[in-house]
Amino acid sequence: MQLSPSRGRRTAGTADGVGSPDDARTGTATGMQALPGTGAGGPPRHVEVLIVGSGFAGLGAAIRLDRAGHPDFLVIERGSGVGGTWRDNTYPGAACDIPSHLYSFSFAPNSDWSRSYSRQPEILDYLRRTAARSGTLDRHRFDTELLSARWEADGRRWIVETSTGTFTATVLVTAFGALCEPKLPAIEGIDRFAGELFHSARWNPDYELTGKRVAVIGTGASAIQLIPEIAPLVSHLDVYQRTAPWVMPRPDHRFSPAQRVALRHVPGYQRLRRGLIYGRLEVTSLAFACAPRILDLISGQAAAHLRSQIADPALRQQLTPRFQMGCKRILFSDDYYPALSRDNVELVTSPIAGLTENAIVTADGAARHIDTLVVATGFHVTDSPAADLITGADGRTLGRCWRQSGQRAYKGSTVAGFPNLFMLVGPNTGTGNMSMIYMIESQLNYLLDALRLMERLQLATVEVRQPDQDRYTATLRRRMRRTVYSSGCSSWYRDELGENTALWPGFAFAFRSITRRFDLDAYRVTTSAEPADAIAPIGGSAGTTQLIGMPPEATAGAPAG
Ligand SMILES: Cc1cc2nc3c(=O)[nH]c(=O)nc-3n(C[C@H](O)[C@H](O)[C@H](O)COP(=O)(O)OP(=O)(O)OC[C@H]3O[C@@H](n4cnc5c(N)ncnc54)[C@H](O)[C@@H]3O)c2cc1C
Repeated sequence: MQLSPSRGRRTAGTADGVGSPDDARTGTATGMQALPGTGAGGPPRHVEVLIVGSGFAGLGAAIRLDRAGHPDFLVIERGSGVGGTWRDNTYPGAACDIPSHLYSFSFAPNSDWSRSYSRQPEILDYLRRTAARSGTLDRHRFDTELLSARWEADGRRWIVETSTGTFTATVLVTAFGALCEPKLPAIEGIDRFAGELFHSARWNPDYELTGKRVAVIGTGASAIQLIPEIAPLVSHLDVYQRTAPWVMPRPDHRFSPAQRVALRHVPGYQRLRRGLIYGRLEVTSLAFACAPRILDLISGQAAAHLRSQIADPALRQQLTPRFQMGCKRILFSDDYYPALSRDNVELVTSPIAGLTENAIVTADGAARHIDTLVVATGFHVTDSPAADLITGADGRTLGRCWRQSGQRAYKGSTVAGFPNLFMLVGPNTGTGNMSMIYMIESQLNYLLDALRLMERLQLATVEVRQPDQDRYTATLRRRMRRTVYSSGCSSWYRDELGENTALWPGFAFAFRSITRRFDLDAYRVTTSAEPADAIAPIGGSAGTTQLIGMPPEATAGAPAG
């Protein structure tokens, strides 16, 4: 079983851009050799900003920092190249479910997407090309894992231990992803299983599935992409379903040559397309955030999709969702239901009781023999192990704080007690219906504005005030109760305390609005000239922005955008 990130796995797709994508792929960027070694007796290397992770968020941060005149940064990445999610998820059929023209950086548009919902190799290729073109690879250090990061109050800096040496940094940016650490199901006997077992996010490309008896556990977003791909190859496939998901038709299509020419050459066409996709998705935010009844209307379309694709009434019954649409992630597929109708595929809904050396035993007593087990059971989202690596000013780790109070961060970005720490894709920044790249770019605006102010005002530290963080969190929680995510299902959006700490409960533009400017008056700061323990209440409110759909106290202090 492989649970470590894939290291520099080569996938299809060639670069057509400037620069050497090999640098991004293999981590052998020339600049890597230029980076002085750390440890080995010498003092740790210091950087202004240290970024952990080089997926969309970490790479985006590197590019935006570089362009904004903050060249003194370093990205550490435990894998062998950029790409994050799209480097690690190489299972057959892996693709985005937000159209590519929006699921990409606004500052690195790509007119060459081959289809509306691109597949993993094409997205990874895009990220590698973007990295190579950006000129930031000389400040990426691959095969370097964050082991710990500790705030040193006296030095007003982060001490960062990695698998390849020690660094210090004025500002620490975590971009280690929310859907990054694969989660194994807690099944009795899983260690006894003697066959091949792998998680969908750690696909074994060398393992031959053809002719094997295979089981897939899970019917979420990854499972419904990979099941149609492997079903024709295997001799038999058992699909273990705990909850039937809502599945909508997938309006995927290849771009015609004429469309691609237009996307490349007609001024504004690509931007317009991006804007239209954004607008359409933002309209659905209304249903998710404020008016879940609208989703009941949309669910009729999903029910019709099920009826048109599954002829067997018993199977259709098993596949009928029993919770309000939108409470869990809505899935999109045209080939999932047909795959389940195949003669060599069985949908199993009896709960799994345990695993033997070569079989899955269900609660009804049946034992189904298998050679291979694919677990598509998601990720550690609300209990990320990476939070235990970060120790704040009072000696407590972020993980410990969050286990006590639930995951929380001011605007998904900063945490009281953790000075000069900025999180990308932090708590309550996920979306059920929008491009995560849009949310990431909003957080990058906030980070960049913070760095700009720190430089201009000669600030040594910024730390969000606990009352501001608490007010923000309380408003968020109240707002969450009105959303469809609180309509009574269990989902991976919720933490052990039952709180949805994964998703943003409103419109994406509202999040863009509250992250447009760094609201200094919500922060305790020290200036470079002051001793480390001085706290200077700097900054007055430059006006307030009300978070759309939230009472003003949630955003008090956020400058108008
Ligand atoms: C299969 C799949 C499909 C998805 N499809 C969509 C979609 O269609 N639309 C959408 O909006 N979102 C989608 N997502 C969500 C997706 O995760 C985000 O869109 C986005 O890719 C997150 O980027 P990130 O940089 O925050 O995290 P990641 O891409 O997960 O990158 C995190 C990086 O941090 C590194 N890292 C982690 N821990 C350490 C450590 N200790 N030391 C050093 N490095 C570390 C990891 O190796 C990784 O490279 C999908 C997710 C999955 C898994």
